[in-house]
Amino acid sequence: MKTIYLDNAATTKVDLEVVNAMSDVYSNSYGNPSSLHQLGENSKKLLNQSRETIAKEIGAKSDEIIFTSGGTESDNLAIIGYCLSNQKKGKHIITSKIEHPAVLECFKYLSTQGFDVDYIGVDSNGFVSLENLNKLIREDTILISIMHANNEIGVVQDIVRIGNLCKSKNIIFHTDAVQSFTKEHIDVNLQNIDLLSISAHKVHGPKGVGALYVRKGINLTPSQLGGGQEKKIRSGTENLPGIVGFAKATELVNKSDNQKMAKLRDYMLDELSKIESMRINGSRKNRVSNNVHVSFDFVEGESLLLYLDLEGICMSTGSACSSSSLSQSHVLAALGRKPEESHGSLRITLSKYTTKEEIDFTINKIKTTVDKLRLMSPIKNKQDAKKAVSAGDDHHHH
Ligand SMILES: *Cc1c(COP(=O)(O)O)cnc(C)c1O
Repeated sequence: MKTIYLDNAATTKVDLEVVNAMSDVYSNSYGNPSSLHQLGENSKKLLNQSRETIAKEIGAKSDEIIFTSGGTESDNLAIIGYCLSNQKKGKHIITSKIEHPAVLECFKYLSTQGFDVDYIGVDSNGFVSLENLNKLIREDTILISIMHANNEIGVVQDIVRIGNLCKSKNIIFHTDAVQSFTKEHIDVNLQNIDLLSISAHKVHGPKGVGALYVRKGINLTPSQLGGGQEKKIRSGTENLPGIVGFAKATELVNKSDNQKMAKLRDYMLDELSKIESMRINGSRKNRVSNNVHVSFDFVEGESLLLYLDLEGICMSTGSACSSSSLSQSHVLAALGRKPEESHGSLRITLSKYTTKEEIDFTINKIKTTVDKLRLMSPIKNKQDAKKAVSAGDDHHHH
């Protein structure tokens, strides 16, 4: 059976050209970039070239890029690193209710360290209101962290306006851009971003490597101490094969891939909208090019997922990070969805490899599986029975 991989917000397939570039580093450029011999010098050159590539993609200077072990570490380093280093300026910090756990958990930790945290909500489309954000800002606010594209519902925030607001109030702006990197236009200067987190494995690069953009002049408390690599902010021998793979993956990005994905995304949203009692989660218009997030009443997302898995189709219910717990997705809750409205949710995330044939096959399987599950649903049957029976007849109630 062929695998149809539609879980690209969780991770992506590594591009073969990336594998080859990495393999070459493992076999031939294995010197330590800190070593003074030629092999080390060669590694240092590769490291610097990779840094240049990543920096260019977001409009930064290469000495503003710190390589890390991924999005999680970048978020931790940005948020905890900035707050610990700058707490004399103030101890009030703001984030949103729909952030990735890598951000939310940092704020939770800081709240145990004497920081005062405000969590801004979102409207039913998933947007942070600038007006409400402005109201939360205080004299002692030092950091605002609002993600660019959401990893569950794909909503893209207006980071230009958020960045402007932060700049006008002299507050540092961090954004988790793991889902938007290479998909949305990012320019740290035009968008007034001070700290930005990205990860390689969401863009067809390797797992375990990421980067943090740190605007020149910003001090961070290091996440680990040691040999002083990465401007003493992140010691440890650099993961050169991973870093070269990350840069290669970034170079391979073709803007037309985003247009292709967006077209398939819209087609899929249109087709799935023909199923009754369904809703789209998150703004229809401002969503990242590869994200489809829908809910179907009277079905369990987990059952739907397992039936589709039997057909070789991989996708997610809610968020990959919380699928092991049965509690409602914090993102859908923030949109104002009731738990029973969130049960039957699917997150379908495409990649440049996704074809129209795969999408057609998947749409068809979703339709038939939703029908099948609804026939078995006690709630659906009860509601249908209720509709059929005249008002006032309560024989169907126990
Ligand atoms: C995947 C993801 C992360 C975590 O990145 P890792 O490289 O897996 O640590 C953080 N934020 C968002 C929005 C993500 O999608």
